Amino acid sequence: MAGPDDAPFAERQARVRAAMAARGVDVLLVSVGPDLPWLIGYEAMPLERLTMLVLPREGEATLVVPELEVPRVVERPDTFAVRGWGETDDPVGIVAALAGAARSIAVGDRTWARFVVALQHELPGRSWIAASAVTGPLRAGKDEHEIAALSAAAAAADRVAAALQGGEVALVGRTEAQVSAELGRRLLAEGHHRVNFAIVAAGANAASPHHEPGGRVIAAGDIVLCDFGGTWPTAHGVGYCSDITRCVHIGAPPPEVAEAYAVLHAAQAAAVAGAQVGRTGAEVDELARAVIRDAGFGDRFVHRTGHGIGVEEHEDPYIVAGNHEPLAAGHAFSIEPGIYVPGCWGMRLEDIVVAADAGPVVLNRADRSLVVVDG
Ligand code: ZN
Ligand code: ZN
Ligand code: ZN
Repeated sequence: MAGPDDAPFAERQARVRAAMAARGVDVLLVSVGPDLPWLIGYEAMPLERLTMLVLPREGEATLVVPELEVPRVVERPDTFAVRGWGETDDPVGIVAALAGAARSIAVGDRTWARFVVALQHELPGRSWIAASAVTGPLRAGKDEHEIAALSAAAAAADRVAAALQGGEVALVGRTEAQVSAELGRRLLAEGHHRVNFAIVAAGANAASPHHEPGGRVIAAGDIVLCDFGGTWPTAHGVGYCSDITRCVHIGAPPPEVAEAYAVLHAAQAAAVAGAQVGRTGAEVDELARAVIRDAGFGDRFVHRTGHGIGVEEHEDPYIVAGNHEPLAAGHAFSIEPGIYVPGCWGMRLEDIVVAADAGPVVLNRADRSLVVVDG
């Protein structure tokens, strides 16, 4: 059914077609993953049956979808046609027929290899690129509705962080996994419709940036690093992600930890303040890295400073050495430096920031200090 909410999808499709023309791409084939909801407001089920949007540079787009999943599709006839396929049909053949005479094909980055291999067999002699070459730069620039959704997601994540910092989340005597589960429940209670991750890393485990929360019991004297996020629903069927990291300390931190945290806090603030339109991802990364390096922790900051965020938890633009693309108004990304001392402790501080002509807008507002809790 056509309606006023179709506007973002028609406009995105027009921008995608312009980018396809600029890159000489004849058809875009999008399956599971975030490009599809961003383009048409429908998220494909990540199963063995093929769902694929066939978007030619000119002419009508068609969503090829399993017949039994057609009822899930909110139809937008102004933007795409729906072609259901039955259990004995050949969906790869249907897509190949629709792609027709296309010579240059962009295929969604998350498409299952089995379908890519089958499509390449059906469509020999074509050139293939990853669809992110077309969609990545477009998805990086958020419109006002997307920024509103990211802001709402960040505010919900902030409420969970405040509960953690305010001592509402019991820590001492519980395992990392138990606390992780509680953070996930709270993300849902605050309005997310999906939990994407909830890292809880206590004591020396916090030195592993992507620690898998496990059976370690949290005790007095621990730093507890919590990095969590979920997906926030919108009326258009497209979800937007939250992602925040806060550390709390069970009892007063030792001077070494407090001093390192002051360095981390200053590094994060420098990169946030410096995330100005026109600066490159590499330059913003260096702003955080220089503070940490100058304090003697250069080799303890083992990852990039940040990543873009939107319908996907990690997307363009990346705040990393080597990214010489300038930030533009509407780019949304994390700023999350960390310091990790293996065998001892680790710490990270993460906010989501939107670049704007008037200066960076920080979406997260939760207390950025190393809050001391009794546990
Ligand atoms: Zn991460
Ligand atoms: Zn995070
Ligand atoms: Zn992040």
